[in-house]
Amino acid sequence: MKIAFYNTKAYDREYFTKENEEHHHDIRYFEPHLNAQTVNLITDEVAVCAFINDCLNAEVLGALKNKGIQLIALRSAGFNHVDLAAAEQLGMSVVRVPAYSPYAVAEHAVALLMTLNRRVHRAYNRVREGDFSLNNLMGYDIHGKTVGVIGTGKIGQIFSKIMLGFGCRVIAYDVQKNDSCIDNGVEYVSLETLFQRSEIISLHCPLNDSTHHLIDEAALAKMKPNVTIINTSRGKLIDTKAAIKVLKAGKIGLLGLDVYEEEEALFFEDLSDSVIQDDVFSRLTTFPNVLVTCHQAFFTKEAMVKIAQVTLDNIYQFEHNGAVVNGVTNPQ
Ligand code: NAD
Repeated sequence: MKIAFYNTKAYDREYFTKENEEHHHDIRYFEPHLNAQTVNLITDEVAVCAFINDCLNAEVLGALKNKGIQLIALRSAGFNHVDLAAAEQLGMSVVRVPAYSPYAVAEHAVALLMTLNRRVHRAYNRVREGDFSLNNLMGYDIHGKTVGVIGTGKIGQIFSKIMLGFGCRVIAYDVQKNDSCIDNGVEYVSLETLFQRSEIISLHCPLNDSTHHLIDEAALAKMKPNVTIINTSRGKLIDTKAAIKVLKAGKIGLLGLDVYEEEEALFFEDLSDSVIQDDVFSRLTTFPNVLVTCHQAFFTKEAMVKIAQVTLDNIYQFEHNGAVVNGVTNPQ
């Protein structure tokens, strides 16, 4: 199938080109993001492959439809950036990669927690500058702590298991309980109880209407002093301005973020020679107890291979069998 690949980096092209040796699709790689202007790059493609920071609103979907696009193949698990109602109305199919490596994301959440807690990022810089002092490097034992996991699907389940391995007590909140988690020793509690009891909170639920700003001023007020919060899920789960207020008051102990509310304007690009215009983000990065990575939790070799395999196979199934495999539909 002829595919327009938007928003590609060298690593995307490397992994997709290798995997396409098996699939034989006709791929055209574009560097620009997908938006209302770049739709015009399409000539005779039938499918578009897009990433999480591409624009797939009603306007763009309509323009893609006019260009003859039938299939939107997301090379991501998340699909909150797609106007699914518009896609349905236009008769366009949307497919995704539901699971590529839940281990990659769960392990990155642990990496954020461990790095922040033991100040590894600060120690790295200090030692290189010949500063071998231990001031301000003290962490806490993870063993014995109560960890609250919000969302116990594929990633949350693995994260819980790792934390149980550390000797933590794991409590969880999810709209749907996961029996494997219960078997592993996870205790489900209300969201309120999770906020009140957890020393460490890790977010693993999707972004939707009910989870937007799940961590807001009211939620933060219920949490223990010096709580550690880790978010590898979606930026809009946290009200960043509310978090900054509480950080300034010294109430959050550690905040580890792989995602940020307005990350579309920043992440995945080298902006080291630019002036960052986002004052909220800039303020966030001034706190010594905040660590931000730029949506890299998924980024392992194993995950990239799986993303390429599943994406190209989703497209193959649509082309040859008319099947919408790993489709996402409008819930309403
Ligand atoms: P999943 O669908 O397997 O699990 C999500 C869980 O969240 C489900 O158990 C679901 O019942 C639960 N949930 C839904 N609404 C909820 C609510 N209101 N409150 C509490 N729980 C709720 O998804 P997954 O594969 O585990 O991925 C989780 C999230 O991780 C994704 O939605 C995505 O946003 C994020 N993610 C991030 C990266 C990254 O690189 N940072 C990569 C992949 C996924």
